[in-house]
Amino acid sequence: MINFRLDRFLTVNCFRYFINKQTSTSYRQLPILMYHSISDVKENSHPYYHVNTSPAVFESHMRYLSENNYDVINLRDLSDSLNANHSAKQIVITFDDGFLDFYTSAYPILRKFGFTATVFLPTAFIQNNRTSFKDNQCMTWDEVRQLLTEGISFGSHTVSHPQLTDLSEDGIEHEIKASRERIEDETGIKVDSFSYPFAFPQENRDFIARYKGILIEQGYRTAVTTIIGRAAIGLDDPLFLKRIPANNGDDPLFFQLKLQGAYDWLQTPQSFFKHIKGSIQNHV
Ligand SMILES: [Zn+2]
Repeated sequence: MINFRLDRFLTVNCFRYFINKQTSTSYRQLPILMYHSISDVKENSHPYYHVNTSPAVFESHMRYLSENNYDVINLRDLSDSLNANHSAKQIVITFDDGFLDFYTSAYPILRKFGFTATVFLPTAFIQNNRTSFKDNQCMTWDEVRQLLTEGISFGSHTVSHPQLTDLSEDGIEHEIKASRERIEDETGIKVDSFSYPFAFPQENRDFIARYKGILIEQGYRTAVTTIIGRAAIGLDDPLFLKRIPANNGDDPLFFQLKLQGAYDWLQTPQSFFKHIKGSIQNHV
């Protein structure tokens, strides 16, 4: 019973019938998928928290997107496509943490379907020689440069992947600035997208204001969070974009419903529990 997926049960049996049929023309809902590792390594936690997706499941996700005519774009193309003619089925695929298995397992599958992706690098773990992060090997700069020539896009995921809320203002600025500069130095491309490490502190308004100021100062135009849901383009702040977590537990129906918005309900309990946690912490 410990692996019972209440989130899947409610999505498949309840919230799918309340999918928001968009009527407003002032904004559009766009799924930004969040993957981490593409590997067969099994995880012991509850499936909701899993970050691994097997190559077979990942391929089934990409096949679904291909067969259903999704138009995969990079995160940095989002702002350009705001007012341009765009297909209704645009989607962004993101990967956090810069793991080697993006290069060895995810990219060959993406290439097979002609898809691009946006990969966020914690730059302390991307070196000229192989290093590891969270017991998982990371890509090298040579591999990053090679993927760039193949149309993969890269953004910052800080330098050392810290809890940014634990750092001083200078510390936060260093993580956001030095990571951008390192990727730009190593690749020669401009970096203007950022992925927040760990759960996004929605309840911490002071931090959010400081964080946003630094992102703007450092030239970032888009940033993603772990807040669950489709991004509302034209409505949401592009520096606080929601994402849809994807992992090995996403069978075809669950994956399809997530893309269609039937998983967006989770942002309400997610935010509720963060506020409860925040107010308890503020009162002790
Ligand atoms: Zn991360």
